[in-house]
Amino acid sequence: MYGDVVMGLKPASKEEEDPFEVLIDELKHKRGVSNDTDLTTDDLKELVASFKAAIKAQTGEEFPVNPWDQLWGAVGAVFGSWMNDRAILYRKLNNIPAEWGTAVTVQAMVFGNMGTNSATGVAFSRDAATGENLFNGEYLINAQGEDVVAGIRTPQQITLEGSRRWAAAQNVSEADRASKFASLEEVMPTVYKELFDIQHHLETYFKDMQDIEFTIQDGKLWMLQCRNGKRTGAAMVKIAMDMLAEGLIDEKTAVLRVEPEKLDELLHPVFDKAAMKSAQVVTKGLPASPGAATGPVVFFAEDAEKLLNEKGQRAILVRIETSPEDLKGMLDAAGILTARGGMTSHAAVVARGMGKCCVSGAGDLQIDYKARKITVGSHTIKEGDWISLNGSTGEVYLGQVATQAADLSGDFGKLMDLAKKYSVLKVRANADSPKDARQAFEFGAEGIGLCRTEHMFFEGDRIKSVREMILADDEAGRRVALAKLLPIQRGDFEGLFRVMNGHPVTVRLLDPPLHEFVPHSEKEQREMAQEMNIPFEKVVARVESLAEFNPMLGHRGCRLGNTYPEITEMQTRAIIEAALDVRKSGVPVHVEIMVPLVGNHKELRYQKAIIDETAAMVFTERNDKIDYLVGTMIEVPRAAVTANQIAEVAEFFSFGTNDLTQMTLGFSRDDIGKFLPVYLEKGIIKADPFQILDRNGVGQLIREAVFKGRGTRENLKCGICGEHGGEPSSVEFCHFAGLNYVSCSPFRVPIARLSAAHAALKEA
Ligand code: PEP
Ligand code: MG
Repeated sequence: MYGDVVMGLKPASKEEEDPFEVLIDELKHKRGVSNDTDLTTDDLKELVASFKAAIKAQTGEEFPVNPWDQLWGAVGAVFGSWMNDRAILYRKLNNIPAEWGTAVTVQAMVFGNMGTNSATGVAFSRDAATGENLFNGEYLINAQGEDVVAGIRTPQQITLEGSRRWAAAQNVSEADRASKFASLEEVMPTVYKELFDIQHHLETYFKDMQDIEFTIQDGKLWMLQCRNGKRTGAAMVKIAMDMLAEGLIDEKTAVLRVEPEKLDELLHPVFDKAAMKSAQVVTKGLPASPGAATGPVVFFAEDAEKLLNEKGQRAILVRIETSPEDLKGMLDAAGILTARGGMTSHAAVVARGMGKCCVSGAGDLQIDYKARKITVGSHTIKEGDWISLNGSTGEVYLGQVATQAADLSGDFGKLMDLAKKYSVLKVRANADSPKDARQAFEFGAEGIGLCRTEHMFFEGDRIKSVREMILADDEAGRRVALAKLLPIQRGDFEGLFRVMNGHPVTVRLLDPPLHEFVPHSEKEQREMAQEMNIPFEKVVARVESLAEFNPMLGHRGCRLGNTYPEITEMQTRAIIEAALDVRKSGVPVHVEIMVPLVGNHKELRYQKAIIDETAAMVFTERNDKIDYLVGTMIEVPRAAVTANQIAEVAEFFSFGTNDLTQMTLGFSRDDIGKFLPVYLEKGIIKADPFQILDRNGVGQLIREAVFKGRGTRENLKCGICGEHGGEPSSVEFCHFAGLNYVSCSPFRVPIARLSAAHAALKEA
């Protein structure tokens, strides 16, 4: 270890084996033995000499024999390790501020490798994968701590119960288990009892699940360290709710114990039960970190990174074992599969921390890094072949296995109830279809904060009518096409109103530049010409005339509705008619109509006049009425600074922080990737402003707009519907800025709900 960590004798390339392991293997081969423990004292002396020679040969330095030199070498290596890339990533993942330094503690050592009456292990006071209140962990007789986590020897379970479960999962008979893999509880009952009592004491004292490391030196138990244990999202929720029920912590603490982002793991699908029946299990390892993952196989961390960056695809990272060098690749992978290592191996611990599905210690896998393939039984799996992992059972399947939605009842439901109890902000969803709306509603959304009507335009055949409208020569032609769209849009809105059952639904009028909808290929343009019975050249000319140099700042948003009022008329009619129809059927409806991209109050006044006139017309025709609000997006900086004028017309504000960020920073939403990595690296900006709200710039505009808007209209409802609405730190900002709600994509609704509660509790 000193040769590796301090002196830097490492594998020459990623494909090579550890040089020390190579020397050990060579000697074992020479002696004809298979276990390290079969080597004699003389063998070990020979090995030490060959280790020293290898270090000298590769590093040019003698192995130090003076203990002071050794100690300084070790201290230096600890400080050095704090500066390297993986330490930087580690600090990022664990939210350790960059400015924190480190200290080195030098202490006397106890030895778990002093014979068969010595051992070492790692334990958790509760199950870090599922949260079950069950003391568990792994140990090795006659070993040092590194041996347990390195995954070189397969550790044994600490408790009898854990040992039996492990044996059942591994198909090990009870007789074999008891003779070869006995638990600490059986092997050293007195020490076990002491360990059990200590872990219980520690958990009660710290009021959180503990991750403890211990060594038994010649029958005496030594505690090495304890800390709050890392856990999966599922375990985080269960432990918090269990500890609340046990009276160990109160409601507020329970809410604060769950990191909002971690909920993400619970919300995503698990394997579909039906698909599982036909899925072919190819091997089984340990259920190291739960969930379902499917993807193409890669063998090296950088390939997982590459696949995600270049193809947007998440891989299954397959390794003999993982090391801290693999962190980034693990983060980018869908799941991790290792051939070696137990439940506390590097892969298992890190994957749980990341909430990644992981199967560890699948010992039947023969991984050949050079040939980039796995052999398992009669199967060969090559790089790029798909496999699927079940991190909750340890099963590995050939191919892609279908998934199904997660179960959101029980502890999750209780946590969400508590989040609601302690939140001030309401949470809505951005949804454009009844399916998304239903999903959002199930996650507890209290309304739809943004329905992007244009998303409905692409479904099925309707794009043809949309194109007909865009390609028309004049208003009369546009009206013909719009008349075809009216019943379709009405149907869309009806679906949303029904699902939301009286909760507010904010429908935004058409926003994107028209050029986004027109046919671009010659084939499509010819089809369109035929459909509309006009010359092909005319279609081409019209498409060309719509092209803009800077479409995001071009003919879009309310500029469309103000130049083509008939579009606003059609959309308003569809919204109001749908609302009346749904209400007539006995379902309550709460309508909000939202105008995009307003920068000048007059733009909104024109749109509001059209909306009100159209609604009044429908009311007369139907001899019926319904309340509705007309509001605006605040997504142009000018709208924010003139919010006092805009609020004279707008009955609500919704901050479109995607465009507001784009226009405030002058960073293109679509092209930021070219310079963002450099800006982050140089520290010019701290985070991607399209993910985490830029509080000092965009945030100040939001504060100003809320202040000025409410100066005009005292109880002006304000929300946010940009992507930031589902990001915890941005939700916190929204709370402090006094918004009424945040709106985000359906799968982020629970994260936003919990973030909203955190913000309120932190303020309190
Ligand atoms: C926004 O700009 O933040 C917004 C929600 O609108 P879109 O993303 O559709 O431009
Ligand atoms: Mg926008």
